Amino acid sequence: MERIKEKCSFCGRSKKETAILIAGLDAFICDMCVTQANQIVSEELAERGTGSAKQELNLLKPIEIKTHLDEYVIGQDEAKKVLCVAVYNHYKRLSQKSFKKEDDTEIEKSNIILVGETGTGKTLLAKTISKILNVPFCIADATVLTEAGYVGEDVESILARLLQAADYNVEAAQRGIVFIDEVDKIARKSDNPSITRDVSGEGVQQGLLKLLEGATVNVPPQGGRKHPEQKMVSIDTRNILFICGGAFDGIDKKIARRMQSQTMGYTASKDLDAIDKDNYLKYISPVDLKSFGLIPELIGRLPVLSHLDPLDAEALKRILSEPKNSLIKQYQKLFLMDSVNLKFEDAAIDFIVEKAIEFKLGARGLRSICEAIMTDLMFDIPSDKDIKAVSVSLEFAKSKFDKLKLSQLKAA
Ligand code: ADP
Repeated sequence: MERIKEKCSFCGRSKKETAILIAGLDAFICDMCVTQANQIVSEELAERGTGSAKQELNLLKPIEIKTHLDEYVIGQDEAKKVLCVAVYNHYKRLSQKSFKKEDDTEIEKSNIILVGETGTGKTLLAKTISKILNVPFCIADATVLTEAGYVGEDVESILARLLQAADYNVEAAQRGIVFIDEVDKIARKSDNPSITRDVSGEGVQQGLLKLLEGATVNVPPQGGRKHPEQKMVSIDTRNILFICGGAFDGIDKKIARRMQSQTMGYTASKDLDAIDKDNYLKYISPVDLKSFGLIPELIGRLPVLSHLDPLDAEALKRILSEPKNSLIKQYQKLFLMDSVNLKFEDAAIDFIVEKAIEFKLGARGLRSICEAIMTDLMFDIPSDKDIKAVSVSLEFAKSKFDKLKLSQLKAA
């Protein structure tokens, strides 16, 4: 049998001219043609709106979603439950639409608002849930909506990001999740003395409202290498799930005031005793959002409201070691790649947590404290072939932390 010449059957490059030449039955394909073919396939699928298997929605039951969430997010059970149910209903609503047109019981969209101190896991929850469900996800900052003045402009850029996250598959983007951070910063100023930034809250809220209600927005297609002349892509936001988050600094006082004025009369003192005064957020209700300065229409479009608990020392300690991709597990993996076993002594972990609390850095600060402690080790260990195990002790953690400038931590 005649031996086929080893060259790419698509572009004709000889084996020498390619990095990899893959043999088929009676043809060859080179690495460059594979890359190009892959691009063409994803662009074609995006245009047809079918998408690859990667974009398939993974609809799990609320309990299953929560079990997965628990692997990545510590605590926050209340928010997790509310989120799982809302997300499950949202995607059930989408699947119901496709086969029951004659049914006139329309399930309404349940956009979500999460209230909780910064660094307590709001973004992490939204991001993790989208990963579990395998839907496109992007994060937007409500405060940028103010900058251009004209909201339409910014809405476009949020959706362009979502489209990008969906690999330019319009259909997938239209059932994605958008996390809008810092919604509290666009509260009406007059109702909210804690806002210092000069933003025209109400106008921005109106703009956001349109987005949440459902609008068709024209988005410039990016990366359209195949058709640079391609027209704008129009994206319908009706089925996009919006999760808003904000710290709402000072809202606890408003909640406390409302509760005190509500609990009057015979059972008042008893009721007040039962209140958890350390965590008023537990009792948050839409009226508190209104008194903070969100317009009622916007609150109405965010029917699912939940809170996140502040993270105490125990939670921070668990965050350091328990989640699937916890910081400690990440360092251990890095060290293992150099065949070194890494351990953190319990006292060292307690020290890291203590410092994160002392400097009010929350969960986000854990990373910068750990980096400060680990950098020298990560610098030296790879070159030292004799070291097979390292244990981070309290003394070691202290000595590294003491050298750190506080300003470095704050910037993190
Ligand atoms: P927020 O959006 O509430 O300001 P993030 O979700 O961005 O806070 O949290 C910042 C980081 O802190 C996360 O990336 C994660 O590493 C860690 N973190 C915060 N809360 C939790 C939590 N409950 N469980 C696990 N990690 C958390």
